[in-house]
Amino acid sequence: MSNDYSVSGNVDGWCTKCKLLLAHTIIAMANNMPVKVKCNTCNSSHKFRPKQSGISKPRAAKPKSSARKVKTQEANYNDYMSRLTDYDLTRVKIYSMDGSYKKDEIIEHFKFGVGIVLSLIPTNKIEMLFKDGPRVLVHNTVLGPNQNYLAT
Ligand SMILES: [Zn+2]
Repeated sequence: MSNDYSVSGNVDGWCTKCKLLLAHTIIAMANNMPVKVKCNTCNSSHKFRPKQSGISKPRAAKPKSSARKVKTQEANYNDYMSRLTDYDLTRVKIYSMDGSYKKDEIIEHFKFGVGIVLSLIPTNKIEMLFKDGPRVLVHNTVLGPNQNYLAT
């Protein structure tokens, strides 16, 4: 069975892009085993992997650093919020793409929650700090006219 492999032949292997066990075309061989293969589904070439590998590794490495990051982000966020609003959220604006916002404004996003405008990015973007971290959103964007132009 292991001697059936040959260059340009087919072999089942793990595709790192499709994240599935799929048929691959063998590009290069070493010691009667495929070393480099091309996925027949997405056409990407990569090292031959007989099955899914290395998935427990990144998963185990991640939580530590991201948990710490979230903590400082949250502290940062709380710091900003208390300084700018004194936890008075009655003046919070509701985020909308066609709105126009200024630095230090407090805006409520339907999905990300209440955030602070950190800075304006030319020409129509704002960098905002939400509880789970910074995000770039658009503003000053009027959809109506553009859509009309596209339609005609
Ligand atoms: Zn693939």
